[in-house]
Amino acid sequence: MAFSPQTHVLAFEDARQVVEEHAKRLRPKGRELLSLLEGAGRVLAEDIRADRDIPPFARATRDGYALRAADLARLPAQLEVVGEVRAGASVQDLPPLQPGQAISIMTGAAVPDGADAVLMIEHSSREENRIAVTKGILPGENIVPTGAEGCRGDLLLPTGTRLDYATMAIAASMGRPRFVVYRKPRVAVLSTGDEVVDIDVVPGPSQIRNSNSYSLAAQITAAAGEAIILPIAPDQPARLRELLREAFDSDLVLIAGGVSMGQYDLVEQELAALKAEFFFNGAKIQPGKPVVFGRVKCGAAGLGSGEEHKYFFGLPGNPVSTMVTFELFAKVMLQALAGIAPQPLTFLHVKLGKRVHTKTGLTRFLPARITGEFEDAEVELTPWQGSGDIASVARSNCFLVIPPDREHMEAGEWVPVLLR
Ligand code: AMP
Ligand code: MG
Repeated sequence: MAFSPQTHVLAFEDARQVVEEHAKRLRPKGRELLSLLEGAGRVLAEDIRADRDIPPFARATRDGYALRAADLARLPAQLEVVGEVRAGASVQDLPPLQPGQAISIMTGAAVPDGADAVLMIEHSSREENRIAVTKGILPGENIVPTGAEGCRGDLLLPTGTRLDYATMAIAASMGRPRFVVYRKPRVAVLSTGDEVVDIDVVPGPSQIRNSNSYSLAAQITAAAGEAIILPIAPDQPARLRELLREAFDSDLVLIAGGVSMGQYDLVEQELAALKAEFFFNGAKIQPGKPVVFGRVKCGAAGLGSGEEHKYFFGLPGNPVSTMVTFELFAKVMLQALAGIAPQPLTFLHVKLGKRVHTKTGLTRFLPARITGEFEDAEVELTPWQGSGDIASVARSNCFLVIPPDREHMEAGEWVPVLLR
């Protein structure tokens, strides 16, 4: 008899919330020591604190003259130039600047004692060792005081920070050649379907090449994980079961295809055989409605160590559904396993270019493209043939989000998008 699981279909927001709740309880497994350059994209497993004040000295932010602002209270003013400070030069041994004096200074140089402002060179005219000034200045102008951006001992990058270009710069500024990061979570990718063949095989007339394993691999990598691609599972219980067992060696399992209502959609049945717990097996979204989320207890499933739970997603196999459901649900679980605290999903708002018409009832995530220069951005749907149309996604740069109660969205309306 065909397996008929109880259906538990949630509204999009509820499904997302269920996933976030579970994600919050996940912890990364294992750490490793990396050099700074190897660390881009990785997640810190240690706190990085400031080893000195930032900036470590009062820093000039302009080329010009360090001086006392009070000397420019009455204009025009004449000051005597008593020397020069270049970036990197020590100012410790300079005598404090006296009233009526200025010192030539370069961007990034330390401001000498006695000076409280840096006048931009453009606002002065120089003759030999004197400058004439016709424009006043406030104390502090063009100087970043010592410690203004951070003090020695401050927590700059807490555990769980993903190293991007800005955080890499901080790690470098703190002189950290190596640091401890979390091990990348291993994410098993199991594509299913009798019609699906490997990319190195010439497909028969009714066969299609496996694209889901590759799109998922790219999404997993971008989300700080390591993809473990398993062989394609046929729609056949014994082999599917075997491959599922192999998949649960990884930290998270993504199964693509085989979760719809068809007679040969066997994934839920085989997961049930592993005593899986299902949190939902549908979300009111399009594409991606049959998405499944659950977990197995390893001991109970005969998969090794007792109490440990491993989570899985059954992602609908239509390629766009696979992509969208990964972004909406699987990504946050993967990030949590990578050590990144679960973040709410944020939509940006863009002006709609052309009226959109849909049916109500599902939250839609349709491939769309934002175009237009600078602040004139507009978003429009990319023409598409439905959830199999990967070319439409390839032409898109976001998904237009259509709430389930909207039949139309009008041109000129600010509409939510999920960037991709
Ligand atoms: P399923 O979710 O198994 O019902 O599959 C839905 C549709 O997605 C079918 O048209 C499949 O041929 C297609 N599909 C399933 N798996 C893949 C895959 N790995 N790569 C590309 N297309 C797939
Ligand atoms: Mg299938």
